[in-house]
Amino acid sequence: MSNINDSDVLPPHIALFPSAGMGHLTPFLRVASMLLSHHCTVTLITAKPTVSAAESSSISSFLSQNPQVKHVDFQTIPFHHSNPTTTDDPFFLQFDSISRSVHLLHPLLSSSSSSPPLSAIFADLAVASSIAPVAAELGIPNYVICTSSIKFLCLAAYLPVLVAAPARLGSNSTEVNIPGLTPVPISSIPPPFKDPDHLFTLTIVRNAKALSEVNGIIVNSFDWLEQETLAAVNSGRILNSLPPVLPIGPLQPYETKNDTGKYLSWLNSQPEESVVYVSFGSRTAMSRDQIRELSKGLEESGYRFLWVLKTSKVDKDDHKDEVKDIVGDSFIERTRNRGVVVKGWVSQEEILQHPAIGGFLNHCGWNSVTEAARRGVPMVAWPQHGDQMLNAEVVEKAGLGIWGKEWGWGAEVLVSGKEIGDKVKRVMEDEKLRVMARKVGKEARKATGLDGSSEKVLMEILELLKQKR
Ligand code: UDP
Ligand code: UDP
Ligand code: UDP
Repeated sequence: MSNINDSDVLPPHIALFPSAGMGHLTPFLRVASMLLSHHCTVTLITAKPTVSAAESSSISSFLSQNPQVKHVDFQTIPFHHSNPTTTDDPFFLQFDSISRSVHLLHPLLSSSSSSPPLSAIFADLAVASSIAPVAAELGIPNYVICTSSIKFLCLAAYLPVLVAAPARLGSNSTEVNIPGLTPVPISSIPPPFKDPDHLFTLTIVRNAKALSEVNGIIVNSFDWLEQETLAAVNSGRILNSLPPVLPIGPLQPYETKNDTGKYLSWLNSQPEESVVYVSFGSRTAMSRDQIRELSKGLEESGYRFLWVLKTSKVDKDDHKDEVKDIVGDSFIERTRNRGVVVKGWVSQEEILQHPAIGGFLNHCGWNSVTEAARRGVPMVAWPQHGDQMLNAEVVEKAGLGIWGKEWGWGAEVLVSGKEIGDKVKRVMEDEKLRVMARKVGKEARKATGLDGSSEKVLMEILELLKQKR
């Protein structure tokens, strides 16, 4: 830490390359902002066209607030439908387009186009295998940023071994053994991983195989939160070919121009810790039947709520119906004095920091988990897809929240209003849980504070890159 600003050495110039979706872009922008505060030069590579409107608007507002950032607006080659049956998820197809286009990136990053020359590339796990040769050609270190939990990272890293022995993910197994970790129930494994030909599986396997070539894997987690998993992976017990896993989280939000949506003024007039915040992230649409049960549950719980409704995966499609057409006029009328339902983008970071928020019903997208951890808000975990059950295990184990495993994956089970109401009441009333969640918040702030575990890891990375220049 001591001599990063010595006059004979410049701080590093780092290229950041996120993939698709707000869950990937947001942590990269947070890293960008943190690097700027450490006087690094930052090049931000963004793939265009972006999938969601939220991504384009975050990119442009970030760039206009940080004009010193160099921007590479990277035109991708559209996805080829070579394997059209396994997924039609637009975010996921975009991972593939980006990977197929990366060879076009090299000239844009070469020393003749970058001044000062690049010191390193930090790229998303979802594009790691295609970035590795670009970094090698440029002769610079290559770090992966994993936007999920260390626990999911371990499963991803070990996935090539699992798919090579298909019985281990087959219907006869009840749990999956990964060396060094407690066995993972088969029910928590992302369903697409059971199909070796699913695009999600193929993508993770390809990128996992490239991990042995990278200099380090940066994660938005912290030592205290995933201590055992971190120790297992960094002692080589999972795979001895893996580079160091480097937790630098929970990442701090960066300054944005606050939108003072009507929900914030409503929150301002609510008692402390009285409101449950309900949101399932940026890309999870809920079925109409499940929305109806959720509305019953919130009403039955008797608690105040702020609920972000989403009926389409991509925000551009999300404007068709109004809130009242979805939840009904009478629901709005009956809950008028104690609940707000909104559609569209909200400032989640601001909501979670608000003193009126006392609980968080959420899908366990890893960014949401780390945001709740920073503030110590107790959660009801309701994982819907992908990595979210492994993230929910982390939440439960840390004491940050409760998880009803019988709720299954998003589309698997219709969870009744009664069950939802009961969980909401529990998270709002369980004093022991609230104390535990506060402790998580304290540990999170300690990790990123001066001499905290995450702060030290970051300074070590910067020190190393400075020396490599
Ligand atoms: N988010 C937000 N407003 C919204 C929806 C999402 O600010 O209306 C943010 C949220 O705070 C988080 C990110 O978008 O930083 C979503 O990432 P996460 O990993 O939680 O879930 P995903 O959207 O990838 O499923
Ligand atoms: N999916 C999504 N958000 C995610 C992860 C997955 O919308 O964070 C979508 C994606 O289209 C994927 C599909 O859900 O191909 C199926 O995912 P999965 O099999 O995990 O769950 P299911 O929806 O079948 O319950
Ligand atoms: N995913 C998907 N289809 C699936 C399962 C997962 O698109 O069937 C997504 C998943 O949501 C994520 C990506 O694949 O966007 C890879 O997972 P990662 O842990 O990198 O990110 P996260 O889940 O936090 O978005």
